[in-house]
Amino acid sequence: MSALLTLWKKRWTYPELNSNIHVAIAGAGIVGVSCALWLQHKGFKVTLIDGNTPGSGTTSGCSCTIATYGCIPVNNPEILHQLVRLLLDNDSPLRIDPWHVVTHLPWMVSFLKNCKKSKVEHTTRYMASLLGSTNEGLMPLVHQAGAEGLFSNAGFLNVFDSQADFEHDLPNQRIRAEYGADFRELDTGEIRELEPAMKPEFQRGLLYEDIAHVKHPQKLVQNLFDHFLASGGQHIREMAHGLIHTGDGMKIFMHSRRFLRANRFVICAGPHSTRIEGCDVERIPLGTERGYHIQFTGRESLIQRPICWNRYAFYAIPMQLGLRMGGTVEIKGTHKPKSPERIEFMKNKADRMFGLNEQPDSDWLGFRPTLPDSLPVIGPSSKSPNTFYAFGHQHLGLTLAGITGKLISEVVAGEKPSLDIRPYSADRFKRNPARQSIHRT
Ligand SMILES: Cc1cc2nc3c(=O)[nH]c(=O)nc-3n(C[C@H](O)[C@H](O)[C@H](O)COP(=O)(O)OP(=O)(O)OC[C@H]3O[C@@H](n4cnc5c(N)ncnc54)[C@H](O)[C@@H]3O)c2cc1C
Repeated sequence: MSALLTLWKKRWTYPELNSNIHVAIAGAGIVGVSCALWLQHKGFKVTLIDGNTPGSGTTSGCSCTIATYGCIPVNNPEILHQLVRLLLDNDSPLRIDPWHVVTHLPWMVSFLKNCKKSKVEHTTRYMASLLGSTNEGLMPLVHQAGAEGLFSNAGFLNVFDSQADFEHDLPNQRIRAEYGADFRELDTGEIRELEPAMKPEFQRGLLYEDIAHVKHPQKLVQNLFDHFLASGGQHIREMAHGLIHTGDGMKIFMHSRRFLRANRFVICAGPHSTRIEGCDVERIPLGTERGYHIQFTGRESLIQRPICWNRYAFYAIPMQLGLRMGGTVEIKGTHKPKSPERIEFMKNKADRMFGLNEQPDSDWLGFRPTLPDSLPVIGPSSKSPNTFYAFGHQHLGLTLAGITGKLISEVVAGEKPSLDIRPYSADRFKRNPARQSIHRT
């Protein structure tokens, strides 16, 4: 009797096993797979739903950097002053398609409103809050899966082609430092010593020594996914179409019309997340920022670490697959084909940075999932019972997938999340006109 009483008293310190609760997840990109592993760790029975190969979406083509310094969003007050140039100038790292503006006006208005200083400060603060927990979210998964070999710890280099550009960036540097980024300044000679293959165009640099990068992001997702399966996870190789709620959970319908019963549902379908029906997700104003890369096979040993040409937000990354050059933001939706002038932009910068005037072996277009305020949506739906959202990580999904998975596992388990997730709630768009424009972009 007394043993029973002791157990009863300790019921809060002995967590309930969750193995009788089945969680389904739509999307096996880096975010979905990270959520799956964290939920498994909490004892849930987990099924990943994705008709495509794990990690083959946006994750596969990214710039590979665990960018814990990246708290400042693309939205910024300068965009408001440069709007006309952004609509017309092919040499700008950010291009906005005029037709897209006309057809997606509410989303664009909301995006531009979030370029106000006070909004940017809000986003910066809550991005920094997530970024501060990057390693505690990601590294346990990497260690479990034995995927450490896919990481390089050679740091990250941000370079400036003029003293004026460097000085223009000083306020951002101050903000990043305030939020914990650790970097040191380099002059031309020091840049040259570190990265001799770069043309001597660069006057100033910032070296972030503690930044890691992933040498093959799709392989990382595949390793995590294999570990998920080996630990008892299930995979349905189909696309989720929508759900209907039942007494104790839901039926999730696939495009094939087959269905899966689950008690909880997590949506991690990256740029396609708001296309799943029946879970109140379609009202969330998810848009996309198109990004590109070009790749040169066998050229990876030209550099030691990811390098960003600050003026053009243009990244060069040494990878297992070769030398990747990634970047640019194009607001143009998901249906239009690659813009040749964006690929030309990339080739031109590769030539100016490294004298690489040969044809790249491949080029790629991908879609960053982006909300108008550049914060992700992480947390429960307030309208669709037992449904959780984890998408909209824009430029930082590789970096933030681990902490997102951890937070989702905590809220699904009914625990107090280890970070305050209220700033990432989907309800922040309740009174936002952009929700009217469900931009099937
Ligand atoms: C050029 C570029 C450079 C970038 N560089 C970096 C970087 O250096 N560092 C960084 O942290 N981030 C970077 N990012 C951002 C990062 O790539 C994304 O934020 C991240 O990959 C998003 O991951 P995800 O899992 O949400 O989406 P995805 O990787 O797109 O995965 C979504 C998955 O959902 C599946 N899916 C879609 N619809 C359904 C459905 N109905 N049912 C089931 N499954 C579905 C898809 O098949 C896909 O597998 C970059 C992005 C781009 C474009």
